[in-house]
This record gives sequence, structure tokens and C-alpha cells, in this order.
Amino acid sequence: MPKKNLRGSNINLVKLHNLQVVLLSLLYEPGLSRIQLAERTNLSSTTITNLIAELKAQGVISEHDNGAEEPNPRSVGRPRVGIRLIPDSRFAVGVHIGIGIFRIAVANLEDHILHNKVFEYDTQLPAQAVLEQIRDGIETVIQESGVDRARIVGVGIGASGLVDFASGVNLLAPNLNWRDVPMRGFFQDALNLPVVVDNNVRAMAIGEAFFGAGRGVNSLAFVYGRTGVSAGLVFNGRVFRGSSTGAGEIGHTVMLLHGGDPCHCGNTGCLETLVSEPAILRQAEALARLHPGGILAATIRTRQDVPMLERVFTAAREGDEDVRRMLNERAYYLGLALANVVNLFNPELILLGGIFSQGQDLFIEPTLATVRSMSFGGLGTKVRLQATTFGWKAGVTGAAALALMHFFYQPEEGASS
Ligand SMILES: [Zn+2]
Repeated sequence: MPKKNLRGSNINLVKLHNLQVVLLSLLYEPGLSRIQLAERTNLSSTTITNLIAELKAQGVISEHDNGAEEPNPRSVGRPRVGIRLIPDSRFAVGVHIGIGIFRIAVANLEDHILHNKVFEYDTQLPAQAVLEQIRDGIETVIQESGVDRARIVGVGIGASGLVDFASGVNLLAPNLNWRDVPMRGFFQDALNLPVVVDNNVRAMAIGEAFFGAGRGVNSLAFVYGRTGVSAGLVFNGRVFRGSSTGAGEIGHTVMLLHGGDPCHCGNTGCLETLVSEPAILRQAEALARLHPGGILAATIRTRQDVPMLERVFTAAREGDEDVRRMLNERAYYLGLALANVVNLFNPELILLGGIFSQGQDLFIEPTLATVRSMSFGGLGTKVRLQATTFGWKAGVTGAAALALMHFFYQPEEGASS
């Protein structure tokens, strides 16, 4: 069977590729002139003229004066007429499915969120019932956003677990007990809109790579921790999905050969059993029992208005040495796993999301120290490690980015099928 990358290109694919480089250039550098666009993309001025005419006819770009009516000596050489995307000419719907919650947003071409809403669901429900709730949520959010449905390029869904990208089937979500759930098929039929489904952390990596801190970065890894721990990798403007679907399952890297806790994947001592939210809470509860007079035990008793993890972080910030030591150990395990990521992929930037971003003041420094000392040949001294720039929005911003890239900026042959 021929491999995909050995296929030839027909003329339509060439045009599609040219359209992509023009759109991405305008996303990265709004206001380019036709001449600059031709230089950036290495396309002939005739090709640029044709593509610009087509995009103008679709109403997605505008060409306007950069301010020639105010002669300014400093603007010498500045192009008189600049081309820009019209941000609100098209929209995408982003759906982030977490464990027990899903969040839905409508975003424009710059992945700016116009409207969003969060919903809770019962994790004991069968998958079909949850999908129906999500469908209703999507319809509600589209309606409330006031956006014309005809201008929606597609729906991006970031799902928990192993997702087969080609078929849009959620193969396995152990935290939800889902197996072989045909997500894309369901939502395409139910919504009558193009739908793309990917792992939710991979979607977050796409969001950061094109619309956040990763813009202009050649290679990045996004590592997200909450109920589980996983990673998304983007290289040279493309998300890395591996040979099938499983690239980025860093949470199931075995960290402890002996004495590790059992993981729901069937192994013991996985990274997830050491640094996920449930793992940290287990450690914290043991510490509170051991030191009933300590800062942590007092914080747990008195701060019942805030989620348990935030109480643990608060105790560390208020100087509970045992909690600090425990969190430093978590950061050490995370750093070890990231040192392996650095050795394998040598990314320019690693972004942390979820609980690691929530507790960034406690995690980043010790994690980076471990990455630096444990990675090979000084590779880790060059990598940048920081928290996601999107905060709680990382999931929906990423899911909307998934749809924007798949249906607008980087459509593949048959992307709308
Ligand atoms: Zn595991």
C-alpha cells in the first residue's frame, strides 16, 4: 500500500497549498503588501493576484491604505496598501471535553473567543447520552453567540483519551470508560457542520502553536495535567500524531520500576500516578493526617470554599515545608519525564497547562532545574518552560484552533468530508 507522503500532487493540491501559505502569512503578519506577500511565500505576483482576488471575493481579506494620507518620514518604505484577514468573516466552534465538564466556545479567525459556556455532565452516563448533551450545548452556544451559521467553517472537538484522527473515533478514554465512540460521525450528522476530532491536549498544542505563545516557534510540546497527564507536539507547523493515534501519552511513561501505584492503564508507577491531580491529593491527604496541627491540615479545615488542590497549593505558598517538599518531588518526576521529551525531540518551548499552570509558581522552577540537569549534553539548558498563555481557555481555544487549522488555514484534501 502506498504511503501517504509518496503520493503525487495534482494542480488543485498545489493551489490549496499556495492558499495555505498566503493565509498563514497574513495570520502571522497582518498588513503585508502584495509585494511582501510574494516575497514571503516565494509565489509569483500573478499567483498572488489570483489568490487575493479569490479571498476578497470570499470576503475573508481586505486591502486597505496603511495611512498614506499622513506623510511621515519614518514610514518611508512602508507599503502603502496592506492586506489583512477580516477576523469576524468566519468562525469556528471549539468543544473541550474534560472529565465531568465540557466547555464550548465560538471563536473568530484569530481564535478570539466571542462567546463560551461551561457545562457539567455525569461521568457515569453512557457515551451516547453525553454526546447528546454536548450537541445541545453546541446548538445553544451557536445561537447565543449570534453568529451566522453559514460563516462557521467547522467544529473542533478536543476529546479526552485516544482518538483516531482519521476516523474521528474515540478509541479509549479510560477516565470515562469510553471505548470506540464514533464522535465525528455523530456530531456531523447531528449538527450538519464539518467536524474534526482530536485528543484535547493535542488541540491545546495547536492553539498555542498558531495563536499563542508558540507562534513563530519551530517546535513545541504542550504538557497538560489534571485527572491524567498527556502531551501534544507541534513541529514545523504541523501537529505530530505518530504512526497511529497515540503520540504524546507521556502520562503512561513508567517512572518507578518498583513500588509504584497501579495506573488505570494496567501498569504501575506511571507518571500519571505521581503527578496528576488525584495523585497530588492522595499525597496531601496523607500529609494532613500525619501532621494534624500543620498548615495544610488547618488550610483544609478552614478553606472549604476553594477546591482541594488550591488548598494544597495555598498551604505550600503559606510555608508548609512538608507540602513544599511533596510538590518539589512531583516537579522532579515531571522534570524527569520532560528531560526525556527534550532528549527525544529537542523542542524549543515546553508549555504547561492544567494543574501545572494553576500551580506554576510552585512547579516551573524545580521542574526546569530537573530538565536542565537530567537532559543530555546541555540540550535542556536551551529549552524554555512556561505556563500556557490561555489559562482556563486553553481547552476551547485549542479546540477552535483545531477547526480553524483543519478547515481554513491548513485544509487537507477532503478535509470537509
Ligand atoms: Zn499508566
